[in-house]
Amino acid sequence: MRLGIDIGGTKTAAVALDAEGSARHAVELPTELGPEAVVATVAEAAGRLAERAGTPIHGFEAIGIGVPGTVDPATGDVTHAVNLGVESLPLARLAEAALGVPVRVENDVNAAALGAAHVMRAGGGAPVASMAYLNLGTGLAAGLVIDGRVHRGATGLAGEIGHLPMVSDGELCPCGQRGCLELLASGSALARLWPGDGSAPPARALFDAADAGDPVALAVRSDFAASVAAAVRLLVLTADPELVVIGGGISALGDRLLAAVRGALLADGERSPFLAAARLPDRLRIVPRDVPVAAIGAALVGDPTAAAREEAPWPRS
Ligand SMILES: [Zn+2]
Repeated sequence: MRLGIDIGGTKTAAVALDAEGSARHAVELPTELGPEAVVATVAEAAGRLAERAGTPIHGFEAIGIGVPGTVDPATGDVTHAVNLGVESLPLARLAEAALGVPVRVENDVNAAALGAAHVMRAGGGAPVASMAYLNLGTGLAAGLVIDGRVHRGATGLAGEIGHLPMVSDGELCPCGQRGCLELLASGSALARLWPGDGSAPPARALFDAADAGDPVALAVRSDFAASVAAAVRLLVLTADPELVVIGGGISALGDRLLAAVRGALLADGERSPFLAAARLPDRLRIVPRDVPVAAIGAALVGDPTAAAREEAPWPRS
């Protein structure tokens, strides 16, 4: 079995994949912040999953970890994991020392892209060979899986589309540019544009208000969907993937989000025969609810070539 651990800013999810690539066991626990605490969280997640799987930790042939930060794939060193309270951490080395099993570390969006390619199916149920994963979380970033492998680029920048400026005189972004896509299409963008009364997450509050006919909510949702559609268009015109799969916290909206973004893509296609021919709405998917794609992808990180070629999907029942 392979073990995958996804360390998020608030919770850590772990799954065990069997030899066929099906997820067999899963656990979730709160993430403790800071370098030592992150390593302790990894050890705790591995221990709990081993217990549930009825195997010692060294019974796992590989352990992969997905982490929200900059990762050197060769060493497994992590830097700038701001949401984890980590500036610099030799995570693979420390986790290996704690667990006694080889550990590989990958950026969380890349891991989720690999996991989504493992779980999703193209037309006719065929495995997905090329896929773009659009992570709509607090921020906005994408991961590319091409021929079953994560495409990182020369320096790991591939897919950092959140910092593509869309509005030349727009708001100042923490990255130093103005009007970045992340300021228009992300969880933090929605929280700013539609704070709500705090009784529901901003994304759900916005969609509820729009469905109830609130004209301001309808306009905000329409702008948001158009910005997400711009991200989808960018990914297709750059990498021409079979599928663009939306994941991250906002994807919990499910079909409501899919319908809004497909609507925006259809409107683009009505203005442009070129875009209509690219069939963008047909390529769009959303990660199935409650499938921990980032942890599944982390488990696959030890063997990246296997990811999109596995036959056995996550059991949906
Ligand atoms: Zn930016």
